[in-house]
Amino acid sequence: MSETLVTILVVLTGTCIGSFLNVCIHRIPRRESIVFSGSACPHCRKKIAFYDNIPIISYLILGGRCRNCGGHISARYPLVEALTGAVFLVLFLKFGLTASFLVYSVFSSALIVVTFIDLSLRIIPDVITLPGIVAGILASTLLADSTWAGLVDSLVGVATGSGLLLVVGLLYYGVAGREGLGGGDVKLLAMIGSFTGWKGVVVTIIGGSLAGSVVGLVLMAVAGKDRRYALPFGPFLAGGALFHILYGEELIVWYLALVGAV
Ligand SMILES: [Zn+2]
Repeated sequence: MSETLVTILVVLTGTCIGSFLNVCIHRIPRRESIVFSGSACPHCRKKIAFYDNIPIISYLILGGRCRNCGGHISARYPLVEALTGAVFLVLFLKFGLTASFLVYSVFSSALIVVTFIDLSLRIIPDVITLPGIVAGILASTLLADSTWAGLVDSLVGVATGSGLLLVVGLLYYGVAGREGLGGGDVKLLAMIGSFTGWKGVVVTIIGGSLAGSVVGLVLMAVAGKDRRYALPFGPFLAGGALFHILYGEELIVWYLALVGAV
């Protein structure tokens, strides 16, 4: 099979997985089953036919409306599908069809679900992060290479992930005078640590905090949000973790050379 064809199949698979992630984002906070019933319109509850459930395309053809009742369908649906396809593409371009690609695709899918649940409801469900920590520890044994020691790195990552964020949370409390982090963020970073090790935790915290600060400042300037407007931290941690998977090792090598450590 040609490289181009494989790439296209990877992206299409990503958008279909994204369609399933939409189901998870909608149903997990409502404690509904994500397996045993097909997609339904949130307004009229009519089952959505397979030909109206094609990632991105169906949304565009139907103009963001339900075929049966004309009710508005959130732009989040095609957005998550496109995002998942794009994430699968960049992971494939970096790792090829390897165990790393498989593990990080599953990990990134969990991060996407966490991101959109946190954005809409300001919660990070334990049913994703706690099994996620176990999955990361198990998967770590598949990933041993020159930069990754496997199980030990994963366990140290869980410990630093939960420990470091508690410290950051206390610092933030000292500066902002209120709680900016929840237990959900701590468990999320422990999950990120189980997949990326302690180096990933450090890159994720620094990258996520920088991005969060920039977005916070822009929101304050543009939308007039005051300092008490708390941004959810989960999406920034998720973005930081994905950044680490793609560029973290290069960034660390670059930084160590910059400060003259190697
Ligand atoms: Zn409807």
